[in-house]
Amino acid sequence: MSSMLKIDRLIRSKRKTLSLEILADGSLQVRAPQHLSRAQIEAVVAQKEAWVRAKQETARRVSRAHVQPGIQAGDTFYYLGQPYCLALVEQQSDSLILDGRFSLRRSDLGQAAELLRRWYTHQAQALILPRVVRLAAQHNLSYRRVRITRAHTRWGSCGVHGSLNFSYRLVMTPPAVIDYVIIHELAHLQVRNHSRAFWQVVQSLLPGYRDQVAWLKQNSGGLARLD
Ligand SMILES: [Zn+2]
Repeated sequence: MSSMLKIDRLIRSKRKTLSLEILADGSLQVRAPQHLSRAQIEAVVAQKEAWVRAKQETARRVSRAHVQPGIQAGDTFYYLGQPYCLALVEQQSDSLILDGRFSLRRSDLGQAAELLRRWYTHQAQALILPRVVRLAAQHNLSYRRVRITRAHTRWGSCGVHGSLNFSYRLVMTPPAVIDYVIIHELAHLQVRNHSRAFWQVVQSLLPGYRDQVAWLKQNSGGLARLD
């Protein structure tokens, strides 16, 4: 009998061995050598079924834990890669302040997600927009316009006419990761797809970008979604 496990993403390369990875959203990614047939790959995956299912269960539980709508005191929110605890306070000038922790006016708890999103969007506009201008100028790349969006799952995108979009959530990640995502989208101005040529452009603009890719893979599941 063939496995009922779904391979969400199959990446073929010159590697010699097959590897299975469960991503933060619980999807299964398989990297395989070119010569293996689909049936051979599925056979290996089937042998690992118990392991895959256990890992998927854990990943989905963790990712569900971060999409809970109810925000509470003690929850952790990231800003520039650093975790800050959310505290409720009775009185303060603004609804939400970051001063070593996120302090939220208790009477505004019902709109916590919206207030946090607005706060992150504001920071994203102040930090990411000038950074795009600077990195584009530094590498002599020109784009049409840049915007901060409410995208929850994509960190950035590059439209066909050269419009760059970045999620407000990107300021939850460390500055080096922000730079990588900006460079990634700027590189799409030269190469639209994710071909080898594309990654060569990224590599030439930002050697060491793989560390930031790894950071995102490891940590993005733990960053709040405020939708
Ligand atoms: Zn891309």
